Amino acid sequence: MAQEKEETKLNPYTGMALLLIILMIGVSGYGIYRLVRMIWEPAKYTDILMCYKCEHIFEKKHTAEEKSPFVCKKCGQRQAYMAFVCTNCGRIFPHVDPGSDERIECPNCFRPNVRPLLYVPPEETETETISEHE
Ligand SMILES: [Zn+2]
Ligand SMILES: [Zn+2]
Repeated sequence: MAQEKEETKLNPYTGMALLLIILMIGVSGYGIYRLVRMIWEPAKYTDILMCYKCEHIFEKKHTAEEKSPFVCKKCGQRQAYMAFVCTNCGRIFPHVDPGSDERIECPNCFRPNVRPLLYVPPEETETETISEHE
């Protein structure tokens, strides 16, 4: 009986300790949950990117948390942005500033007739196979 009384005396402290433990488990649990999500649920989005430095165009699968600039697959620099194409002059360019989505202009003809690039254009060396006709 005396022991029970002691326990009730200590209760506020053990309660706080328990709360702390639960909080810690919760915090680390959230960290683990995020980590697991990053490992098990990657690459939901596919974007066509263009490197601002070397103009390399490539496809990139990424999660919603990954934002541009991405690392260029060719030169390794973090200078790859969403690739846009001008429907007026056909110029492909990286959209460097995602903050100014309202007006994206073509850097070549300065018209706003642009849309995101939907596929990686074939390499110039591949289009040379047209000479294969007789
Ligand atoms: Zn590059
Ligand atoms: Zn243009």
